[in-house]
Amino acid sequence: MSEIVLTNIKKSFGGDEEVLRGIDLHIKEGEFLVLLGPSGCGKTTLLRLIAGLDTATSGDIQIGGARVNHIPAAKRGLAMVFQSYALYPHMTVRGNLAFGLRLAKVPQAEIAKRVEQVARTLEITQLLDRKPRALSGGQRQRVAIGRAIARNPIAFLFDEPLSNLDAALRVQMRLELARLHHRLKTTMIYVTHDQMEAMTLADRIVVMHAGVIQQVGRAMDLYQHPVNRFVAEFIGSPKMNLFPCQGHIDGNRTRVNLANKVQLSLQVKRKKRNGEIATLGIRPEHLNPTAARAGDCQGVIKVVEQLGDNTYLYVDVDGLGLVNMRVSPMKNYVIDDPIGISFDGDFCHLFAANGASLRANDAGPG
Ligand code: ATP
Repeated sequence: MSEIVLTNIKKSFGGDEEVLRGIDLHIKEGEFLVLLGPSGCGKTTLLRLIAGLDTATSGDIQIGGARVNHIPAAKRGLAMVFQSYALYPHMTVRGNLAFGLRLAKVPQAEIAKRVEQVARTLEITQLLDRKPRALSGGQRQRVAIGRAIARNPIAFLFDEPLSNLDAALRVQMRLELARLHHRLKTTMIYVTHDQMEAMTLADRIVVMHAGVIQQVGRAMDLYQHPVNRFVAEFIGSPKMNLFPCQGHIDGNRTRVNLANKVQLSLQVKRKKRNGEIATLGIRPEHLNPTAARAGDCQGVIKVVEQLGDNTYLYVDVDGLGLVNMRVSPMKNYVIDDPIGISFDGDFCHLFAANGASLRANDAGPG
């Protein structure tokens, strides 16, 4: 039993402002949970509280059914991996991998066995006698992860472990972490502000903003059914288009007036709540190009981004500003050409003035 349960965790650093404002979270045994949110939202603070490196102002932390609020970090059975690697520069890789085990008074023969095993798992056997300064960034991070594995922890806590690596290495290490989790099946709690990392690694993602959990769910749930405007905008790259609008959902049809007097008639699926609409959101892939005078609205192409597998157009629509749409890379689009845009009504997200989605059953924080 290694589930981790957080109940009403609050944290302030002395001042009036609460950095964490009542966090409730149930992390299942063996789960890969990612804490995702913009800089300063409280991800690292929450991870440090779980690790025992800092104490909560109020609330409870339970690990494996036992309350650990006052148990020191070293006795919680968790292993943390930092962005900065935190290796001991004067020790070899072997020494770094063995360090925690020596402190824990694991017998010498057992230490040697575990170090060899971890080195094989992470393919760093040939580096065992080198010092950290003779390693690349990726190799250092691998040693830092190895040091955590060697301790055989109840759970791994990762604080942006890949952010010091270049783009290609990040992708490679991301794959390795996914494989590692598959093999070890140990609980992993992983902090990042990179949504790509979150979406590819997580069993569940926790989206945080200003010390409050906005939504917890699988990557596709968050992408397809964001509970509020913050999650809608934060998940997905390029971002969802958001337009101020007026409209009222009543029954299963609704008309929406966008700010520039574009009127959309939407078939509202059963899953919507009745209410006033303040914002309409739609992802670039759910806007379709039409002939210049057709579609729900018309604009002028201002930017064409060709990414190979996809092309994105930024279209200036009177009153809406720049609208981002994904189009076929096989067609030729030209800057300053007029274009029509049709909205796929099934994929419109409707939000109330407080930002909550007008989906049925969503209380949604404001
Ligand atoms: P980042 O992605 O930039 O690391 P984060 O989401 O991990 O951000 P935290 O590091 O948890 O954010 O910080 C949350 C807030 O708490 C920030 O406003 C930060 O300035 C504040 N904070 C963190 N540690 C301390 C501290 N020791 N003393 C005072 N304020 C702190």
